[in-house]
Amino acid sequence: MLEKREFYINGEWVSPAKPNDYHVIDPTTEEPCAVISLGDQADTDAAVAAAKAALPGWMATPPAERIALLEKLLEVYQARAEDLAKAMSTAMGAPMDLARTSQVGAGSYHLSNFIKAAKEFKFEQPLGDHAPNDRIIREAVGVAGLITPWNWPMNQITLKVGAAIVSGCTMVLKPSEESPLDAMIFAELIDEAGFPKGVFNLVNGDGVGVGSQMSSHKDIDMISFTGSTRAGTLISKAAADTLKKVHLELGGKGANIIFNDADDKAVKRGVLHMMNNTGQSCNAPSRMLVQSDVYDKAVEEAGAVASQVTVGPASEDGRHIGPVVNESQFNKIQDLIQKGIDEGARLVAGGTGRPDGLNRGFFVKPTVFADVTPDMTIAREEIFGPVLSIMKFDSEEQAVQIANDTVYGLTNYVQSQDGERRNRLARQLRSGMVEMNGQSRAAGSPFGGMKQSGNGREGGMYGIEDFTEIKAVSGWAAE
Ligand code: NAD
Repeated sequence: MLEKREFYINGEWVSPAKPNDYHVIDPTTEEPCAVISLGDQADTDAAVAAAKAALPGWMATPPAERIALLEKLLEVYQARAEDLAKAMSTAMGAPMDLARTSQVGAGSYHLSNFIKAAKEFKFEQPLGDHAPNDRIIREAVGVAGLITPWNWPMNQITLKVGAAIVSGCTMVLKPSEESPLDAMIFAELIDEAGFPKGVFNLVNGDGVGVGSQMSSHKDIDMISFTGSTRAGTLISKAAADTLKKVHLELGGKGANIIFNDADDKAVKRGVLHMMNNTGQSCNAPSRMLVQSDVYDKAVEEAGAVASQVTVGPASEDGRHIGPVVNESQFNKIQDLIQKGIDEGARLVAGGTGRPDGLNRGFFVKPTVFADVTPDMTIAREEIFGPVLSIMKFDSEEQAVQIANDTVYGLTNYVQSQDGERRNRLARQLRSGMVEMNGQSRAAGSPFGGMKQSGNGREGGMYGIEDFTEIKAVSGWAAE
């Protein structure tokens, strides 16, 4: 079993202040695959002190030098792609093909986008022609505490670390204790790229321990958190006493509105998008809203598509879906499927229990429910598993009303050939992102939500902005 008990603090791998072993479980086998340490207050303090000490030097480093180090990081990241893919696949269950392409690929994509955005970013600019001695400076927020989830580990880590590096923040990363191995390889890459000591620090730990210690720490200026809405609330409360900036990327319950003039592939695309990464994506289109005159056909097609989705070990190549991350997620998903049945939704694919032939591992059947109504638990709660809820609507107004009837507001989807209608809906849907007709957002587009999906924006120029403060200077001497 892999032993990875150390933390990366001030440019060195160090032992935890107190031994506190934690076994990382491989969700395919249900066996431990690695042992890490959960940090203690003394570890958190040491990492924060290193980041604080490195801050003045790093903030004063010209952006071009910070960008050059990020370019080096991208180069070494790509060279370790296979190791990163294996680490993620083993700990969180993404099948190897998905881990190599989407999971590792997301990291390269975000780092490249930050490099491009940073080269164009205006760290200093005049207020306007009317005020020649006024200068607007975009300055690092300071020491950033980065807390990440397990579902898209490198995606989240690079979105936060890339933005922090470019903006001049120093940082402490606490990756999810469910997927810490990839993050530890990432720390090795930071070391290899040659960042100054203390700019990046990593402490493993759980939410109650290192997570809360970071959220309430007096020397952390900002927490950037991705994870559940539950933890986002606790972090906001813990951060309140120090009034630090709290940047949140939380859960979702996306609606995918399929009109009767949607393209032929819309239903299939929606089901496969839902099942991707075993349904463990915050932006999953988990509520499929279908117009009544094409509803029966869509339900039949969705059931057929889901029944063809295969499930298998994460260690294997192929287009199957893997297990869900751990036992508690497995149990939660089983309970929610049962609730769907009990509350009267119609099961058209999948159901409770493991798929045939799999009697070990946290494997869930790709599941589709039809005739789901807005009051049902499966229409309201984020399931975070391969479970799709199909609902019926008659009019455009009703579709918007159902879509917006949720505490979340991350991503909504619209499928229609009517351009005017699409644009109208894009304005009416209360979510940080609206994706239409299967077109994904372009490079540099901001990722983030509204309502209880959070307040942060990540990626490209917008992501860099969120890691900076705006400083207004008057009396600036002409240069
Ligand atoms: P989680 O909230 O349980 O854990 C996420 C991270 O927060 C982990 O590192 C965990 O240790 C830490 N944490 C937990 N409780 C904490 C606390 N009280 N204080 C400080 N830190 C704490 O979430 P998860 O199960 O790892 O991830 C799944 C959730 O993440 C889903 O709800 C999903 O929608 C959300 N998510 C959101 C986005 C987004 O960008 N909006 C992206 C991916 C995942």
